[in-house]
Amino acid sequence: GVGAAASASGNALETLHRVFGYDAFRGEQEAIIDHVVAGGDAVVLMPTGGGKSLCYQIPALVRPGTGVVVSPLIALMQDQVDALRAVGVRAGFMNSTQDFDERRVVEAELLAGELDVLYLAPERLRLDATLGLLSRAKISVFAIDEAHCVAQWGHDFRPDYLSLSVLGERWPDVPRIALTATATDATHREITQRLAMPDAKHFVASFDRPNIQYRIVPKAEPKKQLLSFLKEEHEGDAGIVYCLSRNAVERTAEYLRAHGIEAVPYHAGLDGGTRALHQSRFLREDGLVVVATIAFGMGIDKPDVRFVAHLDLPKSVEGYYQETGRAGRDGMPSTAWMAYGLQDVVQQRKLIQGSEGDEAFRRRAAAHLDAMLALCETAQCRRAQLLTYFGQDPTARSCGNCDTCLTPPETWDGTVAAQKLLSTVVRLQRERGQKFGAGQIIDILLGRRTAKIIQFDHDQLSVFGIGEELAEGEWRGVVRQLLAQGLLAVEGEYGTLVLTEASGAVLGRQREVPLRKEPKKPATAARSGSK
Ligand code: ADP
Ligand code: ZN
Repeated sequence: GVGAAASASGNALETLHRVFGYDAFRGEQEAIIDHVVAGGDAVVLMPTGGGKSLCYQIPALVRPGTGVVVSPLIALMQDQVDALRAVGVRAGFMNSTQDFDERRVVEAELLAGELDVLYLAPERLRLDATLGLLSRAKISVFAIDEAHCVAQWGHDFRPDYLSLSVLGERWPDVPRIALTATATDATHREITQRLAMPDAKHFVASFDRPNIQYRIVPKAEPKKQLLSFLKEEHEGDAGIVYCLSRNAVERTAEYLRAHGIEAVPYHAGLDGGTRALHQSRFLREDGLVVVATIAFGMGIDKPDVRFVAHLDLPKSVEGYYQETGRAGRDGMPSTAWMAYGLQDVVQQRKLIQGSEGDEAFRRRAAAHLDAMLALCETAQCRRAQLLTYFGQDPTARSCGNCDTCLTPPETWDGTVAAQKLLSTVVRLQRERGQKFGAGQIIDILLGRRTAKIIQFDHDQLSVFGIGEELAEGEWRGVVRQLLAQGLLAVEGEYGTLVLTEASGAVLGRQREVPLRKEPKKPATAARSGSK
């Protein structure tokens, strides 16, 4: 009844003060906690840094019994448990890193009712032994963290998550709370369906991170651009630099160190000890830069990460948002900076085409990449585009804190340029039966007599030299934007350019092609634009 709910809510607030030392709940935390404490199921979509942990930790403390937290982040369980123990919460974990004796201790504590919170790796819940153990204990709440791992098409899919629907069957009276920072409708639906939570109440927090400034610059000399971005705006700040390959991670970290920036590498090819050391240095030291593959960051809670930089294009907007979301959890101004170029598109398409997945998987991956490219090439507010992508209405069409708002890109009528480029692609294919990558196409347009032009007689083409009015960088911009608009495609191992169905409308003069101008000084353009 009302009295019970009021006192549960009072207990929650009291626990927030007494255990965690915070003054007030943030955003929807209180509504979520009240709902779960009262025994309801919840699906919670909240951006990284939004404060998801308290949403299950407090119900675990307020309700009688042990709160079981399913998390794929085995490497972080020890840290999470240590942090809870430090504030007096009786916490433990069970995963494959423990030996038999350590596990026995935790089991005994659980059965004796001496645990408030138990972290469990999802694979343990497939074991009858674990399910049997949990049946003999008193469970207060099940929390399923990183719940998007249940989405089969997602980038973090974990097969073990599929078996978590068993929790509702075996413990119909124990509330479940599923939490994620991934917000697309499709993921949302998959979580509700696959975890079998049809009656759950849904809590969707705003995905806006107003203190993060989004910037995407054309890639010219990425390491140099990164260095001047760091020197000019983030000297001495802690931050994360993401690269696609281990090799790029190593080279970038070395480059930064050689230029006086304290940087360490992090990727799956390093041994566990080195990884743990670099991670803990990042958490403890001020102003360390970690250069990493996406293996780094999930679940890392460092409030004062001042920038996240991408030297390679993320595979999806979801990935981009999650990675950039690690900046500025403390609410202070932070930068999400990315250098992006044509080569990224070619490389990502190659990865998709060469992937093990079936046709449907490749189509999904291509759609994800297209959404990412559209974000890179937009002339509109990046924040508005991000929020719209996640199904949320932006509060304003122009946020004032992204590069396109701070220095609105000029647009120009690129119809003729697009026609020239597309007809060069057509000529090569029709007249010569040849396909080439962007480099050769641009050399033809610019009328350059390179060795490769001579070798293929491309100076004999009627289109040779018809594009001298634009510079090479501008032509690269045209290619990227045509790719992002679906008017051109890349294929194959060599990233050759081919037409799409939509290209015909441009060649037939039925469609105009507005393009954004390439910035004159590409490296760090935005700050000077803000007054
Ligand atoms: P998420 O899991 O959603 O990424 P966390 O649960 O790790 O976010 O919380 C992010 C940070 O915000 C943590 O440092 C946490 O202690 C802090 N925090 C969460 N809720 C509150 C609150 N109500 N008041 C103050 N700080 C909070
Ligand atoms: Zn904006």
